[in-house]
Amino acid sequence: MKFRVFKFGGASVNSAAGVRNVASILKKSPGQPLLLVVSAMGKTTNSLEMVLNHFMNNDAVAMIDAFQKVREYHFNILEELFPDKGHFVFKEVDSLFDQLRGYLRKGHLYSPSRPAYDFEYDQIVSFGELISTAIIQHFLVACGLHSTAFDARQLILTDKTYRDGRVNWKRTSEEIQKTIPAFFRHQKIKNPIALTQGFIAGDPEKNTTTLGREGSDFSAAIFAYCLKTTEVTIWKDVPGVLNADPKWFHNPRKLQTLSYREAIELAYYGASIIHPKTIKPLENANITLNVRSFLNPRLKGTVVKQLSEWKIAFPIYIRKQNQMLISLSPRDFSFIIEENLSHIFEIMARQQVKVNLMQNSAISFSVCVDNDPMKLTGLLEELQQAYEIRYNEGVALYTIRHYTPSAIKRITAGHDVLMEQKSRNTLQLVIR
Ligand code: ASP
Ligand code: MG
Repeated sequence: MKFRVFKFGGASVNSAAGVRNVASILKKSPGQPLLLVVSAMGKTTNSLEMVLNHFMNNDAVAMIDAFQKVREYHFNILEELFPDKGHFVFKEVDSLFDQLRGYLRKGHLYSPSRPAYDFEYDQIVSFGELISTAIIQHFLVACGLHSTAFDARQLILTDKTYRDGRVNWKRTSEEIQKTIPAFFRHQKIKNPIALTQGFIAGDPEKNTTTLGREGSDFSAAIFAYCLKTTEVTIWKDVPGVLNADPKWFHNPRKLQTLSYREAIELAYYGASIIHPKTIKPLENANITLNVRSFLNPRLKGTVVKQLSEWKIAFPIYIRKQNQMLISLSPRDFSFIIEENLSHIFEIMARQQVKVNLMQNSAISFSVCVDNDPMKLTGLLEELQQAYEIRYNEGVALYTIRHYTPSAIKRITAGHDVLMEQKSRNTLQLVIR
């Protein structure tokens, strides 16, 4: 049996009109049995992060206020989608909010050995996806699209790394293969849909885990891999993979095709179009990835697949804003050698600071990192003991794949370049 996998992200279902649009896309693309992966609606994940922060700070008033806003947002969408106020969906969504409220009331349940914040994050923030799938499933059925909801926490199984669950591929494959094909086999109706949540998964003790922010793409890839599909489609608010983010780049161009390798490189350097973990399972199973626009579903989008002869016709630009460039010189005037470097990296790994770019000279070592005060305060304090530190805040890191002289000019004109690194295909610039 052949399957299709579609993924719709938060932006595609951020309103009643968005949900209706998803239904209309599904109606216009009948075919093989469809596994549908959806994210939380709109910016719900951010809103639930606020609820969580108040929960962790024991600020009950602010927490309930933030909770009510999330609830209202969803009930407004529900009321627009379902004119019949007696529809069962109201009860179901209400009961999910009750569960969440109950959890929030009980306060901190974690044992001291658990990384509390990350654990609570997954138990609370995952409600965004649970609520969105409940609403969407009932709406699809109301539109005549036969869809059945599956709890992704029972299908994608991870370890206990909360907020960054490591997939147990063997167990996940077994669960998905046992559940989904059997479901489709027993369906008598045409064009059945199995609907499930992106982003969320389950640990061996049946606690909820998540796969990292924007992780629904990865969920879709996991399902595609385990179901051995030939393709997966991610529906986005852009026409496909562009050569730069239209939010800051005038007139970006669409890439018709992209090799897996190039897509992995782009995700690695910070292009936000595809979650970095998504491509590898697709490449391993040779599954084509379509990136298409839910705003313009007739367009073909970008096709990511195995391409031996892939020639890029134009440069691709990636910008990471809000970076900090840190330069370190040993206080004892020693050279930067393996010993210092391993010491610096040991501290960075422990403080969970990811290096976006690095360079060294005889007596100094520079790194560009995300300017995250939560992580950097501890890092800088520790480094200060052995190193003289200078840093620049508010800088940006630009990566140009397949750079040309005019591409470089376009990025650097009128700016100071603080650091530069070139390889055959990639130029990286720290710019102020
Ligand atoms: N809802 C989650 C997030 O916003 C996962 C996703 O959208 O992919 O990060
Ligand atoms: Mg999202």
